[in-house]
Amino acid sequence: MKYHIDTQLLKEKFIKESECPLCDVKKTVEDQIVYEFLNDAVMDDDMRIKVNKYGFCRHHFDLLFAGKNKLSLALQLSTRVMKIKGGFTPPKNFKSAKKLAEQLRAKTKTCVICDILNESMEKYYKAVAMLYKKEPEFREIVKNGKGFCMEHFACLLENASESSAFSKEYLQTLSNLFYDNTDRFLSELDRFCKKHDYRNALMPLGSAENVLPRTGDKLYGKKNIKQ
Ligand SMILES: [Zn+2]
Ligand SMILES: [Zn+2]
Repeated sequence: MKYHIDTQLLKEKFIKESECPLCDVKKTVEDQIVYEFLNDAVMDDDMRIKVNKYGFCRHHFDLLFAGKNKLSLALQLSTRVMKIKGGFTPPKNFKSAKKLAEQLRAKTKTCVICDILNESMEKYYKAVAMLYKKEPEFREIVKNGKGFCMEHFACLLENASESSAFSKEYLQTLSNLFYDNTDRFLSELDRFCKKHDYRNALMPLGSAENVLPRTGDKLYGKKNIKQ
């Protein structure tokens, strides 16, 4: 399963002026990968081997479980559980018990979907820098956006070299977005706190009304939750 990046998707999410367009891109890409794992990927031999070897993390198990194809998930889980069972050796002493504990814990941390998703998102972080370099229109969209969550801001900084000749301007734009948007959040948080003073009971909250969940998204990224 190889994912080619979709620059149109990238532009669409940037135009929407969300708190982090890359969280929105990630959600779309993640939903596509999860869908594939409940459908075509199950038929692919290479993918089956990877699922047996790495399994899924809790978050991706939850997204798979929220999907429509329960049989597909059950088949993939049964081979994964069989693999874990096959690798189990009863501990003979406390030392080997500790080692086994470490190994068992590690088995729930690896995830084939995380691997594919991270690989795919790396291409998007590079694409943002490349589009910034190539397209003046995109440059303006980035400058007028609301910035990024901390994780995606860090990812863009790590891949800034892709903007080559424009790198100085690109880094300046990213820094400006960081300052402008942290100031916006600080003033909303301040308004939210002031509203809790009885003397300000009639003061309208405005955009500060939902500042707490938005600060969560800004600091930790948006969660992809399926009900
Ligand atoms: Zn983000
Ligand atoms: Zn995962």
